[in-house]
Amino acid sequence: MNKIVLVDMDGVIAEFDQAWIKAYYSYYPEKTLPINKSKCGCYFEHPVWSDPTTNLEMYKVLYNYLNLFYILDPIPNALRSIKEMEKCGYTIFFCSHPTVENSTCASDKYEWLKKHFGLEYAKKLILTQDKTVIYGDYLIDDKVIIDGVNKNPSWKHLLFKTPYNSCICGYLHDKNLFTWENWKDFF
Ligand SMILES: [Mg+2]
Repeated sequence: MNKIVLVDMDGVIAEFDQAWIKAYYSYYPEKTLPINKSKCGCYFEHPVWSDPTTNLEMYKVLYNYLNLFYILDPIPNALRSIKEMEKCGYTIFFCSHPTVENSTCASDKYEWLKKHFGLEYAKKLILTQDKTVIYGDYLIDDKVIIDGVNKNPSWKHLLFKTPYNSCICGYLHDKNLFTWENWKDFF
């Protein structure tokens, strides 16, 4: 059997931050988000977030902005690299954790894949609230810690490089972080 590569969506193949920031300002045009987005990126994964008022506003937008997960831009080189990986014999599935509170999130993810990657790739989407129970050889994900009920998942986590995890993972040298440009270094 080919090696199975599970690929996260938000922050890995779909650019979440920019769409979310636009959505936030459509709700709160008078506000200024306190984190420098160019430096730290993804607000929802940032562990130093501490302002409770803004935190509530963030989740209000995340839960209520319909089709937020459909309007994301594709991350450059993701599709091309995935096709190259398939040519090298890897089997790709997308593995994503939908925000259940947002009523269009799950369907947005299918529609997004159909629009940007095509129908056949949309059929490769696995939606789960716990990635540790999904079988694969590798999981490409920008989230730093992926935990769940299975303490020994089958996959090896390849941390996808984003502005926020490069910022918070100071102990990791950039060369250890996965990108769509350097994927061949990891297999
Ligand atoms: Mg992600």
